[in-house]
Amino acid sequence: MPVGTQGTVKAVPQDTLEALGAQIILGNTYHLYLRPGHEAIRRMGGLHKFISWPHALLTDSGGFQVFSLNELRKVSDDGVRFRSHLDGSSHSFTPEHSVEVQIALGADISMAFDECTEYPADRPRAEESLRLTMAWARRSLDYFRAHRHLVPWSDPKGCCMQCFGIVQGGMYTDLRRQCAERLVEMDFDGYAIGGLSVGEPRELTLDMIAETLPLLPKDKPRYVMGVGYPDEIEQYARMGVDMMDCVLPTRAARHGLLFTSEGRLNIKNKQYAEDQGPPDPFCDCPVCRRYSRAYLRHLMQAGEALSGTLNSIHNLAFYLGIMKRVRASLHETSHSATGN
Ligand SMILES: [Zn+2]
Repeated sequence: MPVGTQGTVKAVPQDTLEALGAQIILGNTYHLYLRPGHEAIRRMGGLHKFISWPHALLTDSGGFQVFSLNELRKVSDDGVRFRSHLDGSSHSFTPEHSVEVQIALGADISMAFDECTEYPADRPRAEESLRLTMAWARRSLDYFRAHRHLVPWSDPKGCCMQCFGIVQGGMYTDLRRQCAERLVEMDFDGYAIGGLSVGEPRELTLDMIAETLPLLPKDKPRYVMGVGYPDEIEQYARMGVDMMDCVLPTRAARHGLLFTSEGRLNIKNKQYAEDQGPPDPFCDCPVCRRYSRAYLRHLMQAGEALSGTLNSIHNLAFYLGIMKRVRASLHETSHSATGN
């Protein structure tokens, strides 16, 4: 899922995302709550209508951003008080309020309010954090079930908004297990594995996914939050992960880092100054079909707005291409397995 923090996948228009085959994008509750405000978005018919994205949308709970505001927050059993990074104004997110905001935004998938445990976290700290996450999951789901009908749209096909629970537990497999079992009992519509890619070594990320994934029901979506590099997302998808989101393809693009079939390419490097070749000779995205490395380097050097747009389009095409290939090969495997 490309990440559309403030109701836009930075620098990439919605029609381009459609052309690239993006099926779902993510919006950040914290940002949209502060600006333009969830009530304003509700009055405009919800996020789909506001940003003109008639496809699937997912909103996070706002927790991750709030917890990143280290200096500006205060956590209690009830929720989190925080100050806006925009104007310093005081706000609070409780599980109920986070879900209320997400219902007003009206994405297809909302996330339970959780505490993303930092890394490293010692055992008592991880246990305390998990206690909050599990209590908040219950409250999020109860509020969601009682209020989901207030979503600002109705689907003629009868689809309704869903709520996913988030497995935390730091880097302790038994805490992860405990959390997964509790969430599965609550019967969420889907399950996410959170608190990864927070600075831990990559082998540990892999361990946590490998240990947690089998505990989550196979017939519901399983989502790993905030990953990863191209080879990681391929590996996780092959392990059975259904959904992932990451700012990496677009954020790296704005800094001139392109992911290609030949590895990472820093378009700022002088060696590309007169390179007439496409960014990635094996990519058939609209950028690689039309523009040279030399031109992309020039746009970056000149600080042109088009630079971020073209680099992002290529990186998103590269990421979506990986998932397309994985889907096709899984499809093939399942067909040959059933003799079709
Ligand atoms: Zn390309």
